[in-house]
Amino acid sequence: MENGKFDVIVCGGGTSGTAAAVAAARTGARTLLIERLGALGGQMNVSGPPGFSYAHLFSPRGEQVIAGFAEEMHSRLLKENHALPHRDEDNVYRRRTGYTFSFVDPEWWGLEIFRVLVESNVTLLLHTLVVGVTKDGDRVTGVIVENAAGRSTIEAKIVIDCTGEGDIAVRAGCDYELLPRDMNEPHSLCFTMDGVDWDEFMTYMKENPQEFQLRGAAGLSQEEKIANLRQVTDPADLGEIMGFFSIIKELLAKGEWHDYAGMGFFMAPRPDGGDRGVVQAHFQHSAQVPDLWSCDPWDLTKGEIEARRQIMIAAKAFKKYVPGFKKAYIVKMGTELRLRDGRRIMGDHRLTGAEVAAGARFYDCIGKSAFPAGAVHAANNSTLATVVRNGEVGGLPPEGGSHDIPYRCLVPRKVENFLVGGKHISTDRAAYQRFLQETVVTGQAAGAAAGLCVKKGVTPRALEAEEHVKDLQAFLRAQGVILDGVH
Ligand SMILES: Cc1cc2nc3c(=O)[nH]c(=O)nc-3n(C[C@H](O)[C@H](O)[C@H](O)COP(=O)(O)OP(=O)(O)OC[C@H]3O[C@@H](n4cnc5c(N)ncnc54)[C@H](O)[C@@H]3O)c2cc1C
Repeated sequence: MENGKFDVIVCGGGTSGTAAAVAAARTGARTLLIERLGALGGQMNVSGPPGFSYAHLFSPRGEQVIAGFAEEMHSRLLKENHALPHRDEDNVYRRRTGYTFSFVDPEWWGLEIFRVLVESNVTLLLHTLVVGVTKDGDRVTGVIVENAAGRSTIEAKIVIDCTGEGDIAVRAGCDYELLPRDMNEPHSLCFTMDGVDWDEFMTYMKENPQEFQLRGAAGLSQEEKIANLRQVTDPADLGEIMGFFSIIKELLAKGEWHDYAGMGFFMAPRPDGGDRGVVQAHFQHSAQVPDLWSCDPWDLTKGEIEARRQIMIAAKAFKKYVPGFKKAYIVKMGTELRLRDGRRIMGDHRLTGAEVAAGARFYDCIGKSAFPAGAVHAANNSTLATVVRNGEVGGLPPEGGSHDIPYRCLVPRKVENFLVGGKHISTDRAAYQRFLQETVVTGQAAGAAAGLCVKKGVTPRALEAEEHVKDLQAFLRAQGVILDGVH
């Protein structure tokens, strides 16, 4: 089959790339989505799932700040019982802990997304690696691909890099930032365990609350948190469990735990699995490997080997020492390391942690986020650390509100007819927009912008002008994206 010509080519079919392709196609653009694997979803379900698949669509003050394509997928899956409702006011534990956890089943997400892409008339080219771009001066004119049929080129009016790591942007000549190896967050290989006796586990947890990091909305005392915990009947409500303080101490003394993570896991409910009990334990930071560059395959190879060593230690320790895990077994493992830190492609605006912490507003807002700047993982037994580096600023937007994400963060400097969406958009390290919900927001906006550029016959950089941005915003609003009316 001939490669053909397209209006828009999206490179990479993760959460950002799929959102981008659907948005571009809905503007009427002839859109091609190229993915190196046979599955779509990237870190959402292939090398994932994330502990919180679709969290933080709501700000801490309780307003929904992210909708658009994220909401569309959530509601499609909710109708078929493959998602949990955003908020459940009757659920005292979730309400009191401030959870905004709109769980979607990542496996069903990975099925449903194919249906949405086909319905939206996106052309798919899977099992194909994008290896570069074709250019005429500064202008990108298409992509170079490699697959079982060999090497070929495909022309496009606009190309969007949604590879998560900005690999195509770098090959196109864009500027990027990358921290030194030892300042990168560790990367993780994830795995899921089934066969847990949740009654036994919950009894242990309720009888030993001091062994856990208890969750609670701001201002709750430890006693109130314990009282909350004791009300929980469905383990799915616990969301995330970290701690096992005495167990890990004993394990470290015996040499039966490693030095790179604390003990804990996320609850992975299967909403279509019937009543309570069909919950799996998902481990996404029990195998953490530091000092690796996500753009160095030798580093990544080292990481894959080390992560598997850590998983063997972690799974054995849980089975041997954690009440309820005696008969648990691994049912799923990521196909590859999930990459936390990597390149950020520098664009016409570089969003900063200070802007996030100030709840900044921009004329060219294409979506919102309520996630704090500056939270990072550390490869040690405490697992999480909030570190602000290089004099950057971190923190939550004021009063539990949100901040704007400007369109200019999606427009790389130097190169024309080219956009980025997803994890590697233009930010400083503290403001990294790498959370799942954020990648959907920026992917959807990049796709819509590319489609509008084709329609209007302007470049993505020219679209930054207020008169054009207004049209982009109108299109996004019509697609359900939240741009205004919230804190
Ligand atoms: C360990 C870990 C835990 C996390 N936990 C959470 C969490 O609990 N909640 C949350 O919201 N977020 C979480 N995240 C973040 C989130 O999962 C990712 O940042 C997000 O999924 C990235 O989406 P993306 O579309 O930008 O990139 P990706 O999901 O990486 O998608 C990129 C896609 O491009 C494809 N690709 C790459 N290169 C090429 C190429 N050259 N040619 C063709 N295709 C290519 C890949 O195969 C992939 O499908 C976590 C991340 C990590 C690493």
